[in-house]
Amino acid sequence: MVLAQLGGSIARALQQMSNATIIDEKVLSDCLNEISRALLQADVQFKMVREMQLNIKRIVSFDELAAGHNKRRIIQKAIFDELCNMLDPGKPSYTPKKGKTSVVMFVGLQGSGKTTTCTKYAYYHQKKGWKPALVCADTFRAGAFDQLKQNATKAKIPFYGSYMESDPVKIAVEGVERFKKENCDLLIIDTSGRHKQEAALFEEMRQVSEATKPDLVIFVMDSSIGQAAFDQAQAFKQNVPVGAVIVTKMDGHAKGGGALSAVAATKSPIIFIGTGEHMDEFEVFDVKPFVSRLLGMGDWSGFMEKIHEVVPTDQQPELLQKLSEGTFTLRIMYEQFQNILNMGSLGQVFSMIPGFNAEFMPKGREKESQARIKRFMTMMDSMTNEELDSSNPKLFNESRIMRIARGSGRSVGEVIEMLEEYKRLAKLWSKMKGLKIPKKGEMSALSRNMNA
Ligand code: GDP
Repeated sequence: MVLAQLGGSIARALQQMSNATIIDEKVLSDCLNEISRALLQADVQFKMVREMQLNIKRIVSFDELAAGHNKRRIIQKAIFDELCNMLDPGKPSYTPKKGKTSVVMFVGLQGSGKTTTCTKYAYYHQKKGWKPALVCADTFRAGAFDQLKQNATKAKIPFYGSYMESDPVKIAVEGVERFKKENCDLLIIDTSGRHKQEAALFEEMRQVSEATKPDLVIFVMDSSIGQAAFDQAQAFKQNVPVGAVIVTKMDGHAKGGGALSAVAATKSPIIFIGTGEHMDEFEVFDVKPFVSRLLGMGDWSGFMEKIHEVVPTDQQPELLQKLSEGTFTLRIMYEQFQNILNMGSLGQVFSMIPGFNAEFMPKGREKESQARIKRFMTMMDSMTNEELDSSNPKLFNESRIMRIARGSGRSVGEVIEMLEEYKRLAKLWSKMKGLKIPKKGEMSALSRNMNA
């Protein structure tokens, strides 16, 4: 992934700055020039790069920095924050809720990976207990319906489309109506790929959107599109209310800078990235962990060597991904408890982390600790999705705690004990944030600890 090279170049520029004896304006300028060059090489728009430079120079005012302040850290933080800002439009996208019907429409250029991504998105949610359904409103490309049908059948996801009907609006409306009746909660509409010059196709896309009133329109973008991304993304945004972006083919040789442009053009966040042709090569995208990883913040190489030692190769990517995402929700705790009960890969790895396993799997007391974990899981079964997906213990006010206790037949004291345990584990987990995920044989400069 060429993005890794971008991360490497930025990390090196920061390292050079850190090595300088005195940090003055010239050193900062050199560092920023180096970073700008790397961003431009990665196809990030000149305007965005320029803005980033100016913002950082404004934040890091040498006149205002009192002597004794750690300038290196202030500069590093300013650069980190600016990179995050470039990827974060500042407002989250609409999030469908399980059990409540949401219509999600996919748009994008032909060949961007739209149809594949529709299925990946459906499959991702299906695994989490949703009832997704796919509607093929692409009547333009021959074979589009067959492709969707094939993918949907493989993933056992209901689908709707037609070989005869040529009006995509009609198909979309019929499909949505049908799956609403069948109580599906995530209705996904795949539309024809189009190019910004194709006015008729844009009009058709607008009509599908108006007729189905999607709760969310997702713009799918191939990460290799480069500089053209801004204009294309903007053209889509001008015609339909794009609310989120999914960047595909992040596993390829794309420069990746186009992703930043798409965020800027649509003012919408990237919610997932595609990392391969297979159904499960699909990852949730979160800005801060992504930038941390890009810059190799946090030196977990030693920890990872241990992972390579004890975890079977095929289980490593998923495990590393989870660790690197950093945010520890109650749902993750629930999943980890399941893992610990199965003594799967995470169970083994956590046995190496001080504090994690000592209490959960003390030798000779496995039965007792298993019962404790199961008790915690019963209480979590009484939580709402909002509670499970939260990483904020303050959410649990008195009435929520009482509701959970009542729902699970446990005492208030036990719920509080479980929440205390959550806080303790969240603290341990947060230490793993920014874990760099190396591809095969790639243990690059990225894993250098920038905080050193
Ligand atoms: P559409 O025309 O936008 O619907 O695009 P398709 O879904 O047909 O995808 C076009 C090609 O890109 C297919 O060969 C897909 O297998 C491939 N593809 C889609 N997403 C990814 C990805 O994340 N990584 C890789 N390597 N290939 C992908």
